[in-house]
Amino acid sequence: MKNKNCSFCHTAETEDNPILAGENVYICKSCINAAHKMINGENDESEKPDFDMEHFSPKYLKSILDEYVIGQEGAKKVFSIGVYNHYKRIFKQKEGEDTTIDKSNVLLIGPTGSGKTLMAQTLAKFLDVPIAITDATSLTEAGYVGEDVENILTKLLQSADGDVEKAQRGIIFIDELDKISRLGENRSITRDVSGEGVQQALLKIIEGSTVNISAKGGRKHPNQDFTQIDTKNILFIAGGAFDGIEDIIARRVGKNVLGFNQNQEKLDDRDNLLERLEVEDLISYGMIPELLGRLHIVTTLKELTTEDLVHILTEPRNALEKQYKKLFELDDVELTIEKDALEAIASLSIKRKTGARGLRSIMEQVMLDTMYELPELKGYEVVISGDCVNNNEKPVYIKSKKTKKSA
Ligand code: ADP
Repeated sequence: MKNKNCSFCHTAETEDNPILAGENVYICKSCINAAHKMINGENDESEKPDFDMEHFSPKYLKSILDEYVIGQEGAKKVFSIGVYNHYKRIFKQKEGEDTTIDKSNVLLIGPTGSGKTLMAQTLAKFLDVPIAITDATSLTEAGYVGEDVENILTKLLQSADGDVEKAQRGIIFIDELDKISRLGENRSITRDVSGEGVQQALLKIIEGSTVNISAKGGRKHPNQDFTQIDTKNILFIAGGAFDGIEDIIARRVGKNVLGFNQNQEKLDDRDNLLERLEVEDLISYGMIPELLGRLHIVTTLKELTTEDLVHILTEPRNALEKQYKKLFELDDVELTIEKDALEAIASLSIKRKTGARGLRSIMEQVMLDTMYELPELKGYEVVISGDCVNNNEKPVYIKSKKTKKSA
């Protein structure tokens, strides 16, 4: 059957796309599928998964976020509404209706490690839609921006295992959007131009267009070098810290932010000011109005406090403390992390300005020697105190009374 071409689309036979032969006529798998859909009256609509929209609500989405994301109440609520409306627009809106619902994309503003990516990842997983996470700064480096924009879609297609339909309903998370502001982080002239250029390139795909991408790693149609992706139903979520935007807001509302001595006061002030954020502040920051016009839903995440970070270490389903305890348990070792140790880890991460993002590496550092010895500690309790974090003291090993069975 080799070297046969489909009589309908003229594609050559491949392993992925075998050809059925009749008398002097050949048909490939793709064309059989297309014919099947035609006969059964199916169209693109039928390819949509069975979303149970009845049991799916902003409140429900927020409850999912609550399981993983600590704090950020306001942002979780706004984000849940945005994601709900997006998928309602795709799955409930009927074609040909007079009023069409515009696509709404989301802009999450908050410091590093405050949960922006986590929120997007959590809902993508729950909704079972592919997600591609990319960094806007990588886009500034290429000379030809079109190529990079295409790369985001290639990533999404890969995340959808090459399934174009699935990719077209996926989520693209673009981090560090603030770094491609017209003014640029370092206010340099070179960045002025590329920042705006990248914003323009992003605008094209965010507003919905058909883009030809080379499907590296995806299932590629033979004889074709590209795959077409329609971005009109892709949910774009942009994130950024927008450092210093509070000064712009303060200037607008006529408030002086300087002159606070205590850090906490400053922090509260930033949060309060961020709540008064308006699109014009983002324009003053150097974002182009057209792009902001496509990111209708804007919400802010707060700087996480020591208390929040301790909760993050202990409470979410996959909290680090729970993970380490489990890891130890598998070697029949009991792990106790004292409260002051948790607080010390949280404070260190705040000091390093890494938010919740820095917790894991600090924890790894503290646990390093113990992990090395772990298999020999069978039947022991390992106690981590604040001194282990602050002064590099060795954890205390206590011969445990209750020897646990490994899980
Ligand atoms: P960013 O805001 O920079 O996108 P991420 O969402 O990537 O930060 O956070 C990095 C990691 O820190 C996450 O994988 C998660 O483990 C943790 N984290 C951050 N914020 C929160 C939060 N609000 N609740 C729980 N975990 C969080």
